[in-house]
Amino acid sequence: MIDTDTTLDMGRMAEPGAPVISVRGLAKRYGRYQAVKGIDLEVRHGEIFAFLGPNGAGKTTTVEILEGFRSRTAGEVSVLGVDPADAGAEWRDRVGVVLQESAVEPGLSVRECLELYAGYYRTPRDIGETIALVGLSEKAGALGGSLSGGQRRRLDVALALIGDPELIFLDEPTTGFDPSARRAAWEVVAGLRELGKTVFLTTHYMDEAEYLADRIAVIADGEIVAEGTPQTLGGRDHMTAAIRFTLPDGVAVRNLPAGLRPLAETQPSGGAVIRSETPLLHVQMLADWALGRGFDLPDLDVRRPTLEDVYLSLTAPTGGTHR
Ligand code: ATP
Repeated sequence: MIDTDTTLDMGRMAEPGAPVISVRGLAKRYGRYQAVKGIDLEVRHGEIFAFLGPNGAGKTTTVEILEGFRSRTAGEVSVLGVDPADAGAEWRDRVGVVLQESAVEPGLSVRECLELYAGYYRTPRDIGETIALVGLSEKAGALGGSLSGGQRRRLDVALALIGDPELIFLDEPTTGFDPSARRAAWEVVAGLRELGKTVFLTTHYMDEAEYLADRIAVIADGEIVAEGTPQTLGGRDHMTAAIRFTLPDGVAVRNLPAGLRPLAETQPSGGAVIRSETPLLHVQMLADWALGRGFDLPDLDVRRPTLEDVYLSLTAPTGGTHR
């Protein structure tokens, strides 16, 4: 959906991989309540960084400090090389913000709305190009008030892009979208990375983080409890896989080969599960054993922990793996 041939002003962009956001010991207290407890974060140029956490974990507080909309109690913050607390208009032009609340003007057309916002910036992007970028060309003349929820969100993204920012904050960009609108929005966000933008994404959707994010940080109760890629977060890549299957009548877990028996258990449902750190090897052993005895395991299923499994264990109120 994104037209990646649309050239942006690459001149002022940082080196790929250079830190765009750097946070050390960031703390925020509301009265006696410590909402953010001395967190460290680093977001690199050109990546999509997802910030996850339960309600009340401190996401909005942190993001609004990074956006320069909220003061902090302690810590060092650098965004595009500037402390947001002291940043001026020039810095603000380099940062795009898509809030949860839509900025669309209901009485203006898509084009007019972008023209209005373009007037706030010194070097705005081309309006037609920006409309095309978010896939709204067919709706350029439609009034903001007549757009669907998904189209309004696209216009929100266009409004955040019109100043040609280097860094874009997206706050829960697909909340309330139907599945196809979410997919379309993901393509827009993924396209921002292709254009060399850095994206700081807040979301409650694990599939969204998994699809879009290069790296993820999870905040819970004001502390960062895990950081990594979607594949490695919270040690996910080293977690055991569950190999599930149902044995035929008359065959029990104790009949499995010696190499599998200690790893296997019977489930309350009557099925069996093998917890394995080497699932390919163990599936092969299981398949050789079953086929050698002349039966199939038709419901065989191999499952690694999902990002949601990992997230839930990291953010569990009790018994989690908080560091
Ligand atoms: P959500 O997912 O629900 O949006 P969040 O992770 O964004 O949550 P924050 O809005 O940062 O959470 O809030 C963190 C904590 O700080 C919460 O307990 C909240 O009640 C508290 N808090 C936030 N803003 C204020 C404020 N202005 N005054 C007092 N407490 C606040």
